[in-house]
Amino acid sequence: MKEIKKIPFGLPMIDKEEIEAVSRVLESNILTHGPAVKEFEEAFAHYLDVKNAIALSSCTAALHLSLMALDVGPGDEVIVPSQTHVATAHAVEYCGAKPVFIDATLETGNADLDMIGEKITSRTKAVEIVHFIGFPFDMKKLTAVVKNTPVVEDCAVALGAEYGGKKIGSLGISGCFSFYPIKHISTAEGGMLTTDNDEIAHFVGKARAFGIDRSIEERKVPGIYDVKYLGNNYRMSEIKAALGLVQLKKLEGMNKKRRENYSTLRKLLEEIEGIVLFKQPDKNSTSAHFCLSVMLPEDFPLSRDDFVAKLNIIGIGTSTYYGTPVPLMSYYRNKYGYKPGDFPNAEFIANRSIALPVGPHLNRSDMEYIAEAVQKICSQ
Ligand SMILES: *Cc1c(COP(=O)(O)O)cnc(C)c1O
Repeated sequence: MKEIKKIPFGLPMIDKEEIEAVSRVLESNILTHGPAVKEFEEAFAHYLDVKNAIALSSCTAALHLSLMALDVGPGDEVIVPSQTHVATAHAVEYCGAKPVFIDATLETGNADLDMIGEKITSRTKAVEIVHFIGFPFDMKKLTAVVKNTPVVEDCAVALGAEYGGKKIGSLGISGCFSFYPIKHISTAEGGMLTTDNDEIAHFVGKARAFGIDRSIEERKVPGIYDVKYLGNNYRMSEIKAALGLVQLKKLEGMNKKRRENYSTLRKLLEEIEGIVLFKQPDKNSTSAHFCLSVMLPEDFPLSRDDFVAKLNIIGIGTSTYYGTPVPLMSYYRNKYGYKPGDFPNAEFIANRSIALPVGPHLNRSDMEYIAEAVQKICSQ
């Protein structure tokens, strides 16, 4: 019998270098408001080729502050994809505004552009888009549809993806990134907001620290400051920033590994009949290959969950992006009255897709092992 492998869906890539960087911060006694956050922000801004990067406690914080900076409030609407993490919609709710959900397309999983056009009204204050599992949204077409409405990019699963020769996160009014353990780089928990708009950067810099009007260096007398609006405590600590700096240096290498794994697995899966894959980006874009999602058509003999169980039992970790369309989560259903059938494509992806791992913790033989397993299940 063949040896059973252990293939986790995601694994943070933490080595000696990260451990040493974190130890140095702990020994320095500067745990927050220090040089590591500044250095991480500068390195991140440089990587994306944007003017400003502001380190935060999470991507959720970045989304919330993006909308706060755009003055989103009660009576306003914000366009939100239904195939996303709940954080994308929660950010709108935190502002007291209304999320207007958009169904996904089956080609890419990204939000349906025509539907975005239909849902834009005079109340639409902003459009949030998600580069679904790393596949860059068609920003040129989006701009033609949304015109002057500001676009916030949710880049939580797309760090390193490119569109038209530019990194995603540098194309909208702001970009929001996550450093949760299984994302492209990790600071345990953490996030980043990127923007070329200095006014937004200035606002976010204050709003991440209670809305305090002056930084520690700017205070003549320690502890004396004023607050003019309701900010949050969304800062990133020095420990996390030190971790993030090392991870960012490794990003290109890790993304290269993802690309190789993805292309190996994709070639093998394309040979298998009965399963459906999302299309690949055109020459104008590069995906960040967060995972490789396989969809089972309605007439597939096995349920999605049984398929997953068969993979799990031989050591293949999987996930689902995203397992429930956000408008069908109880909070949104109860508040806005959505029901099954309202977002058919998002539901199809939620119910019929399996996210296979392609992360940098895996290699070619892992991809062959996964493809062989999928092939075997499909031919049963
Ligand atoms: C993971 C994820 C988030 C949330 O990121 P946090 O850093 O955990 O707040 C937001 N949006 C998308 C699309 C995600 O996948």
